[in-house]
Amino acid sequence: MTSWIKIPENSDFPLENIPFGIAKTGETISPATRIGDTVIFLSVLADFGFFDELPIEDLSIFYQPVLNEIAALNKLQRLSLRERLCNLFSDICDELKENPEACSSALVDINDVEMLLPVHIGDYTDFYSSIEHATNVGVMFRDPSNALLPNWRHLPVGYHGRSSSIVVSGTNIHRPKGQTRPDDNLPPVFGPSKQVDFELEMGFITSAKTDLGDSILAEEAEDHIFGMLLFNDLSARDMQRWEYVPLGPFLSKSFGSIVSPWIVTLEALESFRVEGPKQEPAVLPYLQTSGKRNFDISLELSLKPQNGEENIICKSNFRHMYWNMAQQLAHQTVAGCNVNPGDLYASGTISGPTHNSYGSMLELAWKGTRPIHLNDGTQRTFVLDNDTLIIRGFAKKDGLRVGFGECVTKILPAK
Ligand code: CA
Repeated sequence: MTSWIKIPENSDFPLENIPFGIAKTGETISPATRIGDTVIFLSVLADFGFFDELPIEDLSIFYQPVLNEIAALNKLQRLSLRERLCNLFSDICDELKENPEACSSALVDINDVEMLLPVHIGDYTDFYSSIEHATNVGVMFRDPSNALLPNWRHLPVGYHGRSSSIVVSGTNIHRPKGQTRPDDNLPPVFGPSKQVDFELEMGFITSAKTDLGDSILAEEAEDHIFGMLLFNDLSARDMQRWEYVPLGPFLSKSFGSIVSPWIVTLEALESFRVEGPKQEPAVLPYLQTSGKRNFDISLELSLKPQNGEENIICKSNFRHMYWNMAQQLAHQTVAGCNVNPGDLYASGTISGPTHNSYGSMLELAWKGTRPIHLNDGTQRTFVLDNDTLIIRGFAKKDGLRVGFGECVTKILPAK
């Protein structure tokens, strides 16, 4: 498929992507999509009647400052919207192309918009679903011969996180302050964390609204997923180590987490499905899925020191996930917890099998014992003030590239 909108070579946003985000230009805040470097304001397309024939009665969803109502469309409505947008931007359709008035208000260059947090995130869960990451952490902090805890292969381990501090790419985060206990024989101390880390993750946004007591079957769970984004779950390892027993991470992971601005739908990722790792032992029936439920999405993280160049310090892939998204959503709801459109479910750190594919500084520098050398001659064991972290991700196959753009944040000194 080709588009009448110019698409730069190697763009993450071809006609096959059609991601959703919230864009701001001047006084206008609107749901938007993107082709190449052009952002298209959906509210303007609705103004001009381009959505009148869709099986969507309430067009006010295209005028909201968040995507929750668009996320809540049922699968049929979602597909018809995607098809309509693909069609409007494709060479075979003149409707929008030949309407200069609509084009001049709807189409805006990416450099002239500000991207906002795409959804109001009511609830946020963080899983722990990469077997390489869970194994590495188990080896470092517990017992190398027994790295995975007994439950790990039976259920997707997770915890309920904090949604108020989830921010969009481009938002900078202050180094957290808190309690740590650097010496196990002395009392704890208070001050800025000395071990700020990133976690290279992806997340999915739900479209489902369920009632208390309902659960979603793993086999049907993908129908209730609106799309995916990049996620950086910043973590203060020294605070985490002192606070996390027995209820899990608390302040060490709630000082800021960053999402990429564009939600890429599962429809756009269909060509990139792959088998997941073999699950051994077999999982309980409520977690069983058939077919290809993983996605081949290349991920990388760059660290850019202040006034320095980018250093790619991690290259991983979403396909390493042991537990898939359908299993995560089925497990989230199996006890009867209700979910809502716009909820965020993060994968957990995505580590691969090789040293350079570890998805956190903790693993890359192996608890501070193997410093990472940067191209400006400095080294890191954790993130320093004014370091910028950039996650990128894309899927590519047979000449088609569908990507997520960037998820960027800079660590500022403690307030
Ligand atoms: Ca995490």
